[in-house]
Order: sequence, then C-alpha cells, then structure tokens
Amino acid sequence: MIARYHIRVSGTVQGVGFRPFVYRIAVRRGLAGFVRNLGDAGVEIEVEGPEDALRDFLRALREEAPPLAHISRIDLEELPPNGDKAFHILASRGGGEGGGAIPPDIATCDRCLADIDDPGSRYHGYWATSCTDCGPRFTVIESLPYDRPRTSMRDFPMCEDCRREYEDPLDRRYHAQTIACPECGPVLTYIEGGREPPGDPIELAAQALEAGKIVAIKGIGGTHLACDATSEETVAELRRRLGRPAQPFALMSPLELVKEFAEVPSEAERLLRSPRRPIVVLPKKDGKLAESVAPGLHTVGVMLPYSGLHHLLFKRIDFPLVMTSANLPGRPMLIENSRILSELSGVADAFLLHDRRIVARCDDSVVRFAAGKPVFLRRSRGWVPEPIAVNLGEEPMLALGAELNVVFALYQRGKVFLSQHIGNVEHLETEEFLREAIAHLLRITGAPLPSIVVCDLHPGFPTTRLAEELGEEVIKVQHHVAHVAGLAGEHGLSALVGIAIDGYGYGVDGAAWGGEAIVWREGEWRRGGSLRPVPMPGGDLTTLHPGRMATSFLLTAGLPLEEAGLSPQELEIVKLQIERGINCPETTSAGRFLDAVSAWLGLCRERTYEGEPAMRLEAAAAAGTPVPVEPEIREHEGRPILDTAALFRELHRLRREGVSIADLAATAQEALARGLARMAIRIAREEGIEAVGLTGGAAVNDRIASAVREEVECAGLRYVQHAKIPPGDGGLSFGQLAHAAHTRGR
Ligand code: ZN
Ligand code: ZN
Ligand code: FE
Repeated sequence: MIARYHIRVSGTVQGVGFRPFVYRIAVRRGLAGFVRNLGDAGVEIEVEGPEDALRDFLRALREEAPPLAHISRIDLEELPPNGDKAFHILASRGGGEGGGAIPPDIATCDRCLADIDDPGSRYHGYWATSCTDCGPRFTVIESLPYDRPRTSMRDFPMCEDCRREYEDPLDRRYHAQTIACPECGPVLTYIEGGREPPGDPIELAAQALEAGKIVAIKGIGGTHLACDATSEETVAELRRRLGRPAQPFALMSPLELVKEFAEVPSEAERLLRSPRRPIVVLPKKDGKLAESVAPGLHTVGVMLPYSGLHHLLFKRIDFPLVMTSANLPGRPMLIENSRILSELSGVADAFLLHDRRIVARCDDSVVRFAAGKPVFLRRSRGWVPEPIAVNLGEEPMLALGAELNVVFALYQRGKVFLSQHIGNVEHLETEEFLREAIAHLLRITGAPLPSIVVCDLHPGFPTTRLAEELGEEVIKVQHHVAHVAGLAGEHGLSALVGIAIDGYGYGVDGAAWGGEAIVWREGEWRRGGSLRPVPMPGGDLTTLHPGRMATSFLLTAGLPLEEAGLSPQELEIVKLQIERGINCPETTSAGRFLDAVSAWLGLCRERTYEGEPAMRLEAAAAAGTPVPVEPEIREHEGRPILDTAALFRELHRLRREGVSIADLAATAQEALARGLARMAIRIAREEGIEAVGLTGGAAVNDRIASAVREEVECAGLRYVQHAKIPPGDGGLSFGQLAHAAHTRGR
C-alpha cells in the first residue's frame, strides 16, 4: 500500500543539518516528497511510498536525528498519494530561520574526530574540522539568517573541495556553515617570547605544557589558560601570576584520565560525554592532582576535550590540564588576539592562537549534582542560545538579573532565551559586554528590543540603571521572589512555597534578605518566614571577612566572641559597630550564616573568591556525619523565624563535647536545611499548597538539598529544585520574567 504523510516537526530543527538528514533517510528508503523550513514553525515534510518504508522513515526521524537537533513535537496527517517519484529539499517558506533557530556550540562529533585521525582524509590533523552535526554556532554568528556570509567564517572563502561537500545533499557537510579544511580554513599560530618558532603549533604547545609552562589557548568561544594539573609547582605559579590564591580551577582531561583523579558516577559520565560538554563537578580522589587545583575542596570541576584542537593536543600529552577562563579578575574573558597577547603577557609563557574571530564569547558551562540531580552552576556554552519553552503571555520582555553572575533573559512568543554567562557587572568592561551581548542576542533571534524591561529591586545595581535606560516600562522584582518565581515557572506551578537560600538580596524593607520561605501564587507573594535577623557589621564587608559574621552570631547567641578569630582591635570595631548600629544592617541571609560557621570552625576566615567560606564548609561537611539537632522555630514580627543564634549555641555545646570539625560542619548545614524545610512545610500546609522547592545560590549544596528534599517528601508534599536554569543568580533573570509576566497591569 502506498501512502503519503504530511509531517510537521517542531523544536531545534533549523541550522542543525535537519533537512539533509531528512533527505538522506527518505532517499535511502526510496521515498518521494519534499522537506522545507517553515521559519518559526519548524520543518515541514511530505513523504510518499510503501507503508512499511514510511514507518521505518518515521522511526529514523525520531531516533537518528542529528545530535544538535531537538524535536519537541511531531504532528502527522495522512494525505492522498499524488504519485511523486523523487525527494527534494525545497526553499524555505515563512521568513527563513526565525527565533530559536540558532543552535549552541557543540563538541566535535565522533565522525569528525575520525576524519582528523584518518591519514587518508583531507581533514587529517586539522584543528577546526566540523560538520552539520558539530562545531561552533552561537559564537560565530553575527546575524540572521544563519548562513556563512553572516558568520566569522566569512573571512575564509571555501576551497573547491569544501564547496563540493557543502553543495552535496548526501554529504554530511551539506550546508555546514563552518566547513573548513587546511586549504581554506582558519590557521593556528604558536607564539613564545614574542616570536613564532618553526614547527607544528599544537606540537609546540604540547611541549611547552610538558615543560611546565603556562599556555594561553584560544579555543571556540573563548580563551583558556592551560597548564599541567599534576604539577604543584606549575599550578601554584599560575595562582601567583593571576593573584587568585584559592578559587578552584577547572580541568580538561580525556575520560580515562579523569577516572584516575575523580569519581565518575554513571550519570556524571553521561553528562561529561554529552555533546554539550559542560564542566562537571566531581568528587576528587587523592594523589594525582596538584593540591593547588582546588585548595581545601573535596570536589574538582572537569570537562572532556570538546574541539578538534583539544583532541589533537591530548594526543600529545598524557596529563590533565588546568583550563581556566583567561580573564583579568572580574572582567570578561579575553577573545581578541591582540588583547590576549598584551593583557596576558605577565601570565602566560606562550600563546596558541587562531585567526577566526569570536563573535560572541561564551564561557564553559558548569554542572554539579544536588539531591541526586544535575544542577547548573553556570548555563552557558553548549546550551546558549537554546530557548526554554514557557508561556509568559504575548508581550516580549527583557530581564537583566542582579549584579553578580549576571545572565540576562529575553522572552518572546513562548520562549525564554537565557544569555551566556556575563559576569559581575560592577566592572564597566563587563557592563559593556552585557550591552553587546543584548544586541547580539536580539540580532540572532530577530527580535526588537522589548519595551518592558525587568530588573532587581536594588536601586544601586548597574542592571537597574540599564533597565531604566532601556525600558519604556520597568518592572522591579524582589530578588528572592524572582528566584522562587523562576522555580515555579520552570515547573509550571501556579503555587509554591519556595525556600530561597542565598547570599544577598535587597528586601522590600531595605534589609539584606537571603534565607526566606516565600509563598508564591501566580505573582502574588508574601514572606512566609525567614532566618532570624542578625546584625551584619560593616555591611558588604562581612562577605569578605566572614569572621565579622561569626562575631555577630556569637554576640547574638551570648557566646565568647574570641572564637570568631578576629584580632582584638578588629573585634573592638565590630562590637562597636553592632552596639551603635553603625553601617550595621540586619540580615537573614543563609549564605552569611554558613560563612559565619565556616569562620568559627576555622575553615575560612578571609574570603578570596565568591562562595569560598560556604564551599569550604561543604567540603569539610562531606567527611562528617550530622548530629541531630532540633531546629528552633518561633514567631518574630508576625512571621516564623528559624533561630540561627540558638543553632549556634547548640553547635557551641557540641564543640565543647568534642564533636569533630567535620561533624559540626555537617550538623550546621543539616540543621539549617531541616529547619527551613520544616518551616516551609508548615506554611505550605496552612496555605494549602502542594509543592515546596529550593532555590538560591546555596541550593547547589548537595547535603542541604538532600535534607530539604527528604523533609518535604516525608511530609507528603512535592519537592522541586531547578533543572533547566541555575538556582543562583545566573537563573535570576528567568525568574524576573516569570514573576513580571503575572504582575503586569496590576
Ligand atoms: Zn562533525
Ligand atoms: Zn577547504
Ligand atoms: Fe540570589
């Protein structure tokens, strides 16, 4: 029986080699018909032939789609056969490649790696080999539609061989916009001591790394500083040159090597190997790595090689590499050759550069596990600009996030486009990057600047000022309300009690919030409960000097202040600040509580990078067992509060009884988690809400998330945590949109 189907495929199916893929699977089965792009509406197929061949075609369509394609929906309709004899790729209809058509940068595929390794292939040994299934996209595209003349590949006219493959529908490089070969494509240069020594640049870089040198490597969407991760001397030298004493370095390593220095559970291995190739945070094994890679931490962040360049490099070395983003502190990653050479001259001994422009920089993504599930620490390369489907109404909106870890978000017709990692916009240069990245995202989604711009409630953030500059209508959303709304939005919940455990957020009362149980119902919200407010002597200074927070908790709890570890003079100042209320706002921040415990236990008294005290506390706790502590929840100013000062007294008593530092660290985290969870459960029951969730920067803590999850599920309620967006401020703009969509017009 001959039949004919009309098939509409929605999802990420444009610019990913989907039409040639459909062509190939149709031609191979002797089917007739056509395929074409429908702009925003996906891909349309009509296909005709024997019924079993059609069934197999549909199976292949679902199961063998290119790695970059993501099919969200297939609609099928039967048509009368019309006697077609051949299969064609037709010209696009309906405005070409619309919003969401641009795929993310994807790791070099296995077939391209095989080409690179094949001495008979014209791609043999070529670092920038790619095909329709792999290679850079987001970071090379200048504007729509996605076509070579509008990418940084336009600087490299195709040679005849590349042209032939590019034009052959049966070739897997058919319409691969980044097709390039040693004849026509971008080339590498190795520079050391201001000269270009003769020889293969990758070979020279490998030799330099082997000799313990630090090499700046320009890659796909950015630049890394690389060095031997097993050499303490080299890694310590990199730290000295960067002035970065302790912030953990990410590593790059082939999988066999990773297993020698880290534990790789199967779920983590799946993520490591995925074509998105994020950095995955894994439990560290002792011995192999230099201690300076991640000082004082129990974990290490690792990614597998993701470009032909990395692949070729690791054929020549047999040790893991430190691969840290090449940037000056707080600034965006360097991407222009001239600036890489000048600004890293005091850091890198040598440079491995190439001559393809990076249009949009994109830092590596970072994923870890919390309560058994992967969560984003950073959602960037490999995901951006893939949209997240969520219906927030008709009006386009732009949201700008807060101040640290800024990621902005664009909403357009049922899709949220989260930007790449922008960084800390305190720095002017980063704010410039933010503006550029907004312009770039608007160009590649074909969207005009929305008139509605959403930002944080904090009046002093550069993002707040930018929102007021850009928006005709500006909507300000309280920080933790945005975190909770994002969690509800991601899970499609109309009501949620959200536990936000965070560093700092500007409260509606001007105080520093950050340990909140927020009741959220489609844009209506109230502060259901919080941690006990305690003084924050010196305001923002307390984040740099966690000993100040320890002093505050010890004072509130009536405990000996010397235990905070401050010098006698500092202690006098802090006491005075608290007594007189000089620059001493109150805070309910969970981050500040964890910082205080970390300082009090002697794990971290001076912070050298964001999150350090809490991360060191978590590392210590990983080796400990929590002692059960009954959380003290009581009423305060009309809301329940978890008494963290009482918890400090409890910890103090346990410490005097001889409980170990590791067990105390575990106890502090556990008691905070269970206390907040019980408070949130009580509120959820009073409100008749089914779901309790966890969000905020500290929600990536595995032990805390696991404890909250256990409490919530034991109470018979639904537990939710972030899966698609980061729980920290990298996901804030999504939540700002989710909240603003409900509050407009009120
Ligand atoms: Zn490929
Ligand atoms: Zn070529
Ligand atoms: Fe936050």
